[in-house]
Amino acid sequence: MNQEIYCSVNTCHYWANGNHCKANKIMVTSDAVGDSMPDNFDAPQASMAAPTPANTCMETACKTFVPNQSDKINADGVYKQS
Ligand code: SF4
Repeated sequence: MNQEIYCSVNTCHYWANGNHCKANKIMVTSDAVGDSMPDNFDAPQASMAAPTPANTCMETACKTFVPNQSDKINADGVYKQS
């Protein structure tokens, strides 16, 4: 699989010029899960996560987002590709 992920959230650690997401994997989930689950629940656990139906894009969120310069950039088990 050769995917390209574009994202305009330029305050994220994984963001790169051209609005590229450079995370090796991401998890998109519901806002509720994004709010309630800890930082170490992310893309590496995603295949075992319960489905989270949504009705609009407003109800979805990137769980992998972590702010630039955060001391939690390694908490999710995701790495930034070059
Ligand atoms: S991890 Fe999520 S928020 Fe961060 S750049 Fe990638 S898609 Fe955007």
